[in-house]
Parts: sequence; structure tokens; C-alpha cells
Amino acid sequence: MNIYADNAATTKMSQAAIDAMLPYMNHIYGNPSSLHSTGQQAAGALYAAREEIAKILGCSAKEIIFTSGGSEADNQAILSAAAIGAKKNKKHIISSTIEHHAVLHTLKKLKKQGFEITLLDAHENGIVRPDELFDALREDTALVTIMYANNEIGSIQPIANIGQICREKGVLFHTDAVQAVGHLKINVAEENIDLLSLSAHKFHGPKGIGVLYARKGIPLVSLIEGGAQEKGKRAGTENIPAIMGMAAALRESVDQVEENTEKLIPLRDKLIHGLLQIPHTILNGDRQLRLPGNVNVCFEGIEGESLLLLLDAKGICASSGSACTSGSLDPSHVLLAIGRPHEIAHGSLRLSLSKENTAEEIEYIIHETRNVVEYLRNMSPIWRDLQEGKRSYVIQ
Ligand SMILES: *Cc1c(COP(=O)(O)O)cnc(C)c1O
Repeated sequence: MNIYADNAATTKMSQAAIDAMLPYMNHIYGNPSSLHSTGQQAAGALYAAREEIAKILGCSAKEIIFTSGGSEADNQAILSAAAIGAKKNKKHIISSTIEHHAVLHTLKKLKKQGFEITLLDAHENGIVRPDELFDALREDTALVTIMYANNEIGSIQPIANIGQICREKGVLFHTDAVQAVGHLKINVAEENIDLLSLSAHKFHGPKGIGVLYARKGIPLVSLIEGGAQEKGKRAGTENIPAIMGMAAALRESVDQVEENTEKLIPLRDKLIHGLLQIPHTILNGDRQLRLPGNVNVCFEGIEGESLLLLLDAKGICASSGSACTSGSLDPSHVLLAIGRPHEIAHGSLRLSLSKENTAEEIEYIIHETRNVVEYLRNMSPIWRDLQEGKRSYVIQ
């Protein structure tokens, strides 16, 4: 068995994406800035891909900037909004405690430059409350940046609601929609989104390519200086093969979004149900308002890294919330933010499904996870203490 259940980390490229890329790696290799016909062929493809992506998002092609991925788009969106704010002496930004590090680390940088950052609570279900956003808004708020859906716990934010509040208050609204694009229906106009980040490799496109959507009239700062590509806001020869692959993958994902959702939700719920049968296990993220393919649980008395390694040995590719940095194990900031204590956050398991997963795979995952959790608990002194009543369970 080899089961890939780490689609929130990255996805397998679709055949449509690969097919769309190949001609641009073979014979159509021109530089779109060149005036000759080989270059102009690439320029035509670039134009068509931009139009296609804009149509899918509900904006105009002029509002699409190609970036190297989600991280770059997040950085550029936030730094641009901060620059606009700074000019008007507005140096307050609202975000949430569960954002991706591409957002949180950019905010940290701005804080050092004198910005004030308010991080909204995501509560136990991983969802921010629009009334709390409303209360946090100030005269000097330059930007609200709230992710569309969380990459660890899958919780989906009330984006249209937040967009409406921001538009009414005249505050710029950015959303990191990297986990949502291609998986949920999104329309930037209907949802009053001013800036949006997406990344192709999260919806079966290639890695290293993404988009920053910026509503018309929002001046962007460029992170990379050089040529006049992307209206001077992102220098460097466009990655045509990747852009073509991204457009094809996006078209396919969006066309299949309903079909995939209908397939994934029962698989997801079967997996959640099966894992919650394991004693002293808790679901992370909202039960209903979550990405169709996201499962995230914590097991008491378990260390996430050992769990992952043993599951990998059984042919299951999964992920833990915690990031292992240079030997020290930091539990996930997201799990801590939704109130999981350190020792519980360490015992997390994220399984993120795609349309390629099957019901048999789900059964296998449940079965193997149950065995591995039992095996690890039997070796754990903490678990023995819990069982002997010398410690009390955090997860009932
Ligand atoms: C993956 C991810 C990113 C980073 O995207 P890259 O293209 O890998 O830079 C940012 N935000 C979220 C929510 C993500 O899941």
C-alpha cells in the first residue's frame, strides 16, 4: 500500500497540467517579451492563461500578478497594503492567530517597522468571529488579512461576511486562499476581496507558481526589481510552462469542485468517525465548516513524529501539526491557538485527502492508525501514568 494523504502540503500534478506544460518546455520556448514570432507565441499563451484565471476568480486579467507561489503573494499583498496605509499614517493591521507563517512572519517584520498588529482569536473551532473583527477595526486600520481556509485544521472562515465589513469600513481586505482555491467556490467580486493569494501546487498544478489578485487601483510594491514584467510589479521572465500548468489545473479543479466535494466529504467523515473511535482522541477544527479533504486529530499520550514515522512504514504519507526545527520540537501554533495544551498539540495527525483516495484506503488508514497509536501508548510512561490515575486525561 502507498497512500498519499498529505495534499495540504502539496498535490500530485494532474495529467491536464502536465499536458498543458509540455509544449512550453519543448518547442514554444520563447520569451514573451521578445518581439519575434517565437516570443509572441509565448506571449499569446500567457495572455490566454491570465484571462482564464481571471475569469475563474471573477476579476479582470489586469488584476492578476504571477508570483513564485503562495508565500510570495502573501508577502507582496501585505507589504503593499502596509505601504498604502503608511502613507496615510494608518499603521494598524488585523489578522488571526492561525495564519500561515508567510502571513505571520511578514506581520512580524511590519511590527518591527512600527505597525501595530491585532490577531483575532480563532476560538476552539478555528473560526474567527465577524463581530470581533468589527470591534477590532480602528480609524488607523490599514489592512485585514484573514486566510480563507486553514492549512492545518481545515476550518473555513466567513470570508464574504468579513469582506462586506471591510468594504463598508473602507479597509483593505487580503485573504490567503491557498488552501481554498480549486477546493471551494470563490468569487473575489461577490466576496468583496481586495487581495487574494493562491498557489498552483495545492490544486494539482506545478510548484513554484502562484497568483496575487489585486483589485484594480490598489498600488502594489514590487519585491523583485528588474524588467517591466507584470506591469513592473514583479520582474523576471515569466515561468510560462508553470503558468500554463497552473491555468489548466485550476480550470480542471474548478470544473470538478462539486463532484470532488461530493466524493471527499463522505471519505473525510468516515475517516474522522473511525479515528474518533480511538479512545482519548479529539478532532481539531470545526466539524462542519471545514475543507472537504481535511482531517486533523490529536491523540492523548502520543508524540506526533513517532506516529508519522510508523505510519510511513505502513505506506501512509501524513503530516503532523508540529514542525521539527533543528532538533527542537515546536508544537503547531495553530493547535496552540485553538487552545490545545502543548502535550496534546504534540500528538497531532493531519490527513489531507484528494479525489484519488478511496474508501479502502480510508479503512486501511483507520486500521493502521489505531494499531500504531496503541503500540506507541503501550510504550509511553505518560500513558501508563494516565491509566493508573497518577495523571488525569486532558482528552476525555
Ligand atoms: C502552502 C501554503 C502557503 C505557501 O504557498 P507556497 O506556494 O508553498 O509558497 C501559504 N499559505 C497557505 C495557507 C498554504 O497552505
